[in-house]
Amino acid sequence: MLFSKLSQYFEKLESTSSRLALIDILAELFGEVSKDEVGMVSYLLQGRVAPFYKPIEMGMSEKLVAQAMARAYGVEREEILKDYGKVGDLGKVAENLSGVKRHPERSEGSQDSKKTKSRDSSQARNDKLTVEEVFKTLTEIAKISGDGTVEKKITLLSGLLEKMDGISAKHLVRVPLGASRLGIGDPTILDAFAKLKLGDKAKRPLLEGAYNRISDLGIIGQTLWSKGIKGVQGLDVQVGRPIRSQLCERITDPKAILEKYGGVAHVQYKYDGFRVQIHKEGNKVRLFSRNLEETTLMFPDIIAGVLKQVKAKSIILDSEALAYNPESEEFLPFQETTKRRRKYGIPEMQKKLPLKAFVFDIMYLDGKSLMEESLVTRVKSLEKVIHGDEVLIPQPGEMVKNPDRLQAIFDDALTKGLEGVITKRPDSKYEAGGRNSNWIKLKRNSSGELQDTIDCVILGYIFGKGKRSAFGAGALLVGVYDEKKDEFVTVSKIGTGLTDEEWREIHKRADKIKVSKQPARVNSILKPSVWIAPEIVIEVLADEITRSPVHTAGRDENGVGYALRFPRLIKFREKDKTAEDATTVKELVEMYKGQFKK
Ligand code: ATP
Repeated sequence: MLFSKLSQYFEKLESTSSRLALIDILAELFGEVSKDEVGMVSYLLQGRVAPFYKPIEMGMSEKLVAQAMARAYGVEREEILKDYGKVGDLGKVAENLSGVKRHPERSEGSQDSKKTKSRDSSQARNDKLTVEEVFKTLTEIAKISGDGTVEKKITLLSGLLEKMDGISAKHLVRVPLGASRLGIGDPTILDAFAKLKLGDKAKRPLLEGAYNRISDLGIIGQTLWSKGIKGVQGLDVQVGRPIRSQLCERITDPKAILEKYGGVAHVQYKYDGFRVQIHKEGNKVRLFSRNLEETTLMFPDIIAGVLKQVKAKSIILDSEALAYNPESEEFLPFQETTKRRRKYGIPEMQKKLPLKAFVFDIMYLDGKSLMEESLVTRVKSLEKVIHGDEVLIPQPGEMVKNPDRLQAIFDDALTKGLEGVITKRPDSKYEAGGRNSNWIKLKRNSSGELQDTIDCVILGYIFGKGKRSAFGAGALLVGVYDEKKDEFVTVSKIGTGLTDEEWREIHKRADKIKVSKQPARVNSILKPSVWIAPEIVIEVLADEITRSPVHTAGRDENGVGYALRFPRLIKFREKDKTAEDATTVKELVEMYKGQFKK
């Protein structure tokens, strides 16, 4: 496929405001790609050249991209940056400039290049670049290192731009900047795969199991194209590819949990740190976060612990890492622990805040997946393969039949300064990406009642009047995630609880991801002053969940949805949650029902 053709599809995807149309356009696009291209196209649709879990960075700032454009179009870099300041999108600037006659003999430093510039949209660009060529060059740009890196990156990118039409240039430039905002979620791409290859988008669940096990849309696509649905369903977990984390449901009543499990629950402490999925193959250890980003370089202490304590050739473990003070036997609060998530100054922080990894599950051992084994069997293997407790501390948990005992363990957890407990169904398998009652969290919030916060996605903001208008915001329109439809639905407007400083912060971040119209995956009756791409997740506490005709979360046939009463912002969920990890409609409805039980 030609890259210009793919870019035409990007244009269509960018301009639609309906999710169903997104699926149709994607299915049409995929209908034109070969088995060798489907992987590349899947990654490019997300503005990347690799799956999310591969930490591939282009290493090109706006200035460098502008410099590549300057070279390709024979225009001064400063002029490009000035246009960028006005337009706010280097992609658009590239599109405009590509219709300008190039003067390759003039360098970007040339004094009079501005004067000699002339419009010539019929400029004969060689639009024969294939998706594969562009993909390979982008990958090369990401991989360059060592002497002359900057120059080489600029040369490669400008080389591509010189050969491209405006639309292609617009979409290409956004990739190294990480600014491709087609707003397409993985489930939507799976819908399109299902529609095209299985005849119906409703067959997406047939692909989801494999997707949850391997977290790589490109491989799913390649396998579906070359080996069909059977091939996809045969894709199994592999060391080095993160498994989508199993998640918890929330229930507030210990008795109800035991009833749900038929009388017996497996109970483990709930540690409040960050999730670390550990992969080991021989002497090579890799770590992944809750949202599947590779974090290997951040935690050398965990790597050392794995190499020392794990007696297995290959293994995948699930754990929660937490800063722990061995002298006082204190778990440090999340705000401290989270300082370990950093790219620089790792050795100093490692000394200050050594981590322990509380290992609560095992998914793979010496060439064999344990995902289908029962929790009880898995936990037993855990204890056998982890020796000692220097850094990795295995969590055997306890089998509990009596609600009083469950309550006692919960109280003990709180005394130790932990958040609460997680109860698990003893005979359940590891369900990648699943969030159901097989794992239930029981925790307490600061006011002492059993209650939980809601993770909302900011969808837009509404200009304020008076003092607040100085910061450009008066209220935030926030939503939750509808996982069935892969869309964001509104649940509240939040205006209180934010300091002026927080408004400024929101404004700064939101301005970078402003979009000109309601995104296709956002379903809202309310129209904010400014829409933003659904990316920022905030933690919100509310007094109550109520029914509301104004909000689209969980809307029934009568047009009544769910809303938050007296919502207030608790904090930004930094880094560990993507928009798709926000609270789901299903959870919201469960919480609504839970209110009446109390
Ligand atoms: P979630 O990860 O469920 O979306 P969250 O990030 O808001 O939600 P919580 O809801 O507070 O976190 O709790 C779930 C998280 O608790 C898990 O994702 C995991 O990181 C952590 N955790 C701590 N101890 C355990 C344990 N024993 N078993 C499973 N998870 C645990």
